[in-house]
Amino acid sequence: MTNALQWAIILQNTFKLYKITPQYLIVIRNFAMHIFCYNKNALSMNRYKVILLFVLAIIMACSPPKKIQQSTATTASKMAAPKVKNIIFMVGDGMGLGQITAGMYMNNNYIVFEEFPVVGLSKTSSSDKLVTDSAAGATAFACGIKTYNGAIGVSADTLPMPTILEAAEKRGMATGLVATSTITHATPASFIAHQPSRKLYDEIAADFLNTPVDVMIGGGWYHFDGNIRDDERNLLDSLRNKGYLVDTIGDNKRLPAFLDSIPRNTDKIAIFTAASSPKPVSEGRTYLKNAAVLATERLAQSNEGFFLMIEGSQIDWGGHANEVDYIVTEMLDFNSTIETVLDFVKRDGETLLVITADHETGGFALNPKSVMNDSISAGFTTDYHTATMVPVFAYGPGSEAFAGIYENTAIYNKMMNALGLKQE
Ligand code: MG
Ligand code: ZN
Repeated sequence: MTNALQWAIILQNTFKLYKITPQYLIVIRNFAMHIFCYNKNALSMNRYKVILLFVLAIIMACSPPKKIQQSTATTASKMAAPKVKNIIFMVGDGMGLGQITAGMYMNNNYIVFEEFPVVGLSKTSSSDKLVTDSAAGATAFACGIKTYNGAIGVSADTLPMPTILEAAEKRGMATGLVATSTITHATPASFIAHQPSRKLYDEIAADFLNTPVDVMIGGGWYHFDGNIRDDERNLLDSLRNKGYLVDTIGDNKRLPAFLDSIPRNTDKIAIFTAASSPKPVSEGRTYLKNAAVLATERLAQSNEGFFLMIEGSQIDWGGHANEVDYIVTEMLDFNSTIETVLDFVKRDGETLLVITADHETGGFALNPKSVMNDSISAGFTTDYHTATMVPVFAYGPGSEAFAGIYENTAIYNKMMNALGLKQE
């Protein structure tokens, strides 16, 4: 009996290689069991064996094994696929499907994501909560680990974990961080800092000196200012000593033109767009697109490729405030920045563009009275984040890896694989 069952399983596994439906597999297994269990006569057994081998031979001849087909296809596509030289990773903080939809209907029924051929879904939970915060969410993208809410580039037991930005730097790639929050805020910070709490802004600022990131643009120069910091270290001078072009211009009418005027061959760039948090779009903030273009064009000077993270930080803040207009204006600012980045990606051909959110904010949904291009009637379930899955959009070489449903940590793995970087 055991012998018969083993034979049946061997046959079943052999047939599995040849595109055969599960129902048919069961028929084959039962047939095999029948032969080997009930035929005591050696001669008759041999006859059945010959018949089975004959059937097997016919099927093998008709249908080449699945595995061989797949590996041939993989090799061919590997050879044909253009390599990924650069990654631009964009995070819409708190950007769930509701936020995207609201932006789309207030933008004449169009959102840039319609141009992206690959869409996936990310499961956003942190190590200790189903509802993540931006620190654990960004650490998942940056380090490929689930950690606790509030952790900046550290594991659940507070050990520093290497980030994809640090790995890119180590390999000689250019790197950059752009945000519409302070640069020390959870999302950008998690790519370069290692602190047990997102609230340790002074310590996070000091960590920016440990990795030679090429471009940093965002608010928060207070955290680098010796007159403000508890330890009185002047990190703005430290950055200058390390060769950065440092400017605390702040977010005013001159800022976009100033960003446009910075020579693209400038070695290192640290532009502070506010002393603390930059303003919302509704109060005149306009720099994200210019900052994204500056960072992209500067980093594209690198022969070794680059990794750039760009964050639309305040979509989240609109969600926390339960303010529809705040969400929509920030969403559309992010949308038009993506349009500009996508133009570069299309021209370049060696850049993988990945866009996602760390989580949804507000439990934001569009209600029946919403009218296209006029008003969004919305409901909110919370003034905090929610655990709903968020979309992932990918464009360019390597983008096909981002289809499907996976944990937020898989985004790190997929990006590391695309760049051929090894986790330490
Ligand atoms: Mg953020
Ligand atoms: Zn938030």
